[in-house]
Order: sequence, then structure tokens, then C-alpha cells
Amino acid sequence: MKHTKVRKINSGNEQKICTVCSIPLEIKEVGSSKGNCYRTNYNNQIYQCNTCNNKKKRICLANRRKTKTVGDSQHLRDMLEGARQRAKKNNIPYTLKIKDLRDIITESCPILGIKFELNKKNLKWNKKGNDWRTSPSLDRIVPDKGYTKDNIIIVSLMANSIKNQATPDQIQKVATFYKKLYKEKGINYG
Ligand SMILES: [Zn+2]
Repeated sequence: MKHTKVRKINSGNEQKICTVCSIPLEIKEVGSSKGNCYRTNYNNQIYQCNTCNNKKKRICLANRRKTKTVGDSQHLRDMLEGARQRAKKNNIPYTLKIKDLRDIITESCPILGIKFELNKKNLKWNKKGNDWRTSPSLDRIVPDKGYTKDNIIIVSLMANSIKNQATPDQIQKVATFYKKLYKEKGINYG
């Protein structure tokens, strides 16, 4: 972030103004309903009103999300946030830290071996062309134990969705059944 322009506009003036919308700035203290400029910003000579500053942060975040890659900080933060919201909704434990994810994320699904990719923007769930199956996802080994360090692994969404449908025994029975059936019928299932 460059402050050159900021300092020039507000240099020597007692009353600072927002460098984006020119509104006079009043410091907003934590917990107060008054003021329009965060104290931390003001102290750091980021002279922007909260509205303009929040808008800029939203744009920055959207850009980081568009360009995030598997395992980078933004990706891990987004995974954590998703987990936190699901934990709250389902009333299950949540004690994960970003480091816990960084420690265990791999380049490919440990079950299916497919390389992890992030969903492309504008592609909806299950729509043709969407590679949602290769997305990394947090699996709670024992669902009720929630999102805790010892209870999560990162697997492809495909593996995760299969696992969540049935018990390991049932999944194995389905696999065995279809492998046999396909073989009998001479179907190549790849
Ligand atoms: Zn402003």
C-alpha cells in the first residue's frame, strides 16, 4: 500500500479527510458507535473512512480468493472459516488453527491419489466441466468429534463424499459388487 498521496493530501492539516471520498475523519474507538475511521488505520496514517477502507479490503480479499492456490494462506484460511461455520451450525467442537492444516495438507488426495485443485470460479456444483471432485476438503474422521487437530484429514471432495454416504464395509461391498458385475459383463470401468 502506498501512502505518498495520503500524506500529501493530509499533511499539515489537523482535520484529516478520507483520501478516497474526502469525508472528514473522526476516530472510531472500539465499541463506540461514533467515529468513522478505525484508530489503527488513523495511527498508521491510513486516512480512509471505514466505509472506503472496508470496501478496499473486500476487493483485496476477492482478488486473493480468485488467485489462491492449494495450501496457500488464503486457501487455508477459507477452509478454516468453512469449518468454523459448519461447527457452529452443527454444534460440534472446533479448535483448529491454520497451522494444523498447514501441517497436514498434501498435493494430492491421500486416498485416491488425484492432484488437488481448487474449484474454478463461476462453475456451479456438479455442473459439467466443474472439477469439484478434486477439491481438497476437511474430513472429520469421527463426525461428532468435530474439527479438532487429531480428528481431521484433508482428502478430495470425491473421497469425502463417498465416505460420508456409508460405512467402510458398505462402501467395500458396493465396490466388490460392481467390480464383479462389470467384469462379468465385460464392461471397462477404468
Ligand atoms: Zn471514504
